[in-house]
Amino acid sequence: MEDYKDKADYLYRLQYDNKNEVRKLSIAQRIELLKKLKSGIEKERKNIQDSLYKDLRKHPLESDYTEIFPALSELDLFIKNLHRWAKTKKVKNNLIFWGNKAYLSYEPKGNCLIISPWNYPFLLPVMHLTACVAAGNTAILKPSEFTPHTTQILESIIESTFPKKHLAVFTGAVDETSYILTKKFNHIHFTGSTKVGKLIMQAAAVHLSGLTLELGGKSPAIIDKRSNLKDVTQKLIWGKMVNLGQTCIAPDYVLIHEDIEQDFINEFKTQCQQCFGNDSSQSADLARIIDNRNFLRIKNLIDDAQHKGAKIVWGATFKANENFISPTLIRQIPQNALILEEEIFGPVYPIITYQNKEEALNYILQGNKPLSMYIFSSCNDFVNYFSNNTSAGAVLVNEVLVHIQHPRLPFGGINHSGMGQSTGEYGFKEFSHIKPILKMTMPLTPSKLLSFPYTAKTRKMVNFMLKWL
Ligand code: NAD
Repeated sequence: MEDYKDKADYLYRLQYDNKNEVRKLSIAQRIELLKKLKSGIEKERKNIQDSLYKDLRKHPLESDYTEIFPALSELDLFIKNLHRWAKTKKVKNNLIFWGNKAYLSYEPKGNCLIISPWNYPFLLPVMHLTACVAAGNTAILKPSEFTPHTTQILESIIESTFPKKHLAVFTGAVDETSYILTKKFNHIHFTGSTKVGKLIMQAAAVHLSGLTLELGGKSPAIIDKRSNLKDVTQKLIWGKMVNLGQTCIAPDYVLIHEDIEQDFINEFKTQCQQCFGNDSSQSADLARIIDNRNFLRIKNLIDDAQHKGAKIVWGATFKANENFISPTLIRQIPQNALILEEEIFGPVYPIITYQNKEEALNYILQGNKPLSMYIFSSCNDFVNYFSNNTSAGAVLVNEVLVHIQHPRLPFGGINHSGMGQSTGEYGFKEFSHIKPILKMTMPLTPSKLLSFPYTAKTRKMVNFMLKWL
């Protein structure tokens, strides 16, 4: 048998046999583990930055604010709130259950598998394993095969915090992941592409494992005609150029009123030049595309659009040896261009213009439900029109990306952009079974009042229920 199969079998069995012990850990013990994980991350901050630089050429400052800080603040949130979240909660009764006791208790799901992508190779695994461990589960973490340096440091932090029978890293690509997916997990948490998400769902169906899918998609940025374009453009450039566009919630395309398209283009050019200079490949601030396959995929989206008649108005310069694509703006794109169909996941903005908001709404409704919807407007009617008439994982008004950091908002998609919710209390609940417990303490329970044989008295009782309860 191949080595990876032995390793997968070993880790799976180890955790399967140990899951009932892990379940018994008190909330205080779980918090201690989270604190240890947090201090491990703090100690290794420099090594994490170096690894992210090697894997994605991320600027250390960007690694700090997009990977390390959010991971630490998620841990903090759990450390501070876990006692409250995990506490069994009493719920109110109605008249039927008057005098009895009803509770919600949070039970660990059991043995879990967490599969992560390469684009935030430190933050995403830490964020989801935090919720998983906090909820009292074991976890096998399968990080992306494309970020080996970050995986190495992550594995060493995890190994110095948790025994393998509680939390273990299992590395590998498609074969390895496909093999571990044949196992019977109580819950699978997957972050990645919609295409692979469908395969994960099929694997989960075999054992009816619980499933969270954090996927991608085409998140629109809708711009009102009355917007302050300087402000909007600054935000859009940041949202797209962080991690060189390789962010699941990066605005994918710009949906803008046709009267202000040219002003937006001018502003975009001016600000890109100010931010990244004449040759953006020389800017230390911009990361790189993860690999040549993805570089060619994005280049092909640009070439295809151009070939079909689209106009490049900014950028589209390439450095194949570095997997670099400069910040790019494209307009007049024909409907059959691939760039309007596929998630771009790179530093390229297609511009779609609209004449009225109905047209913009129809354009959004033609596509799959996005992971995020960005609306730029100071007019509530405009914001509500798009927010109320569309469906999306989340809506963010007059900003980009930052909603993932809000401590009291869930993160997640809908249909093609995902299912289930992550982060904070919602992440804790996703890895828990919310178990209702009803204690009947009153002498007259429904089974007594409705017991056989049915008589005129039972009829009266049911009539009363139908009328009054
Ligand atoms: P991916 O789907 O190719 O890979 C994700 C994980 O699945 C990796 O660990 C990979 O090894 C594994 N995998 C790949 N092919 C597989 C197969 N055939 N069978 C089993 N496992 C397989 O995604 P990616 O390229 O690593 O990441 C980019 C995608 O992730 C984008 O679509 C992005 O939008 C999405 N994403 C979503 C979120 C979110 O929170 N919603 C966050 C980050 C990235």
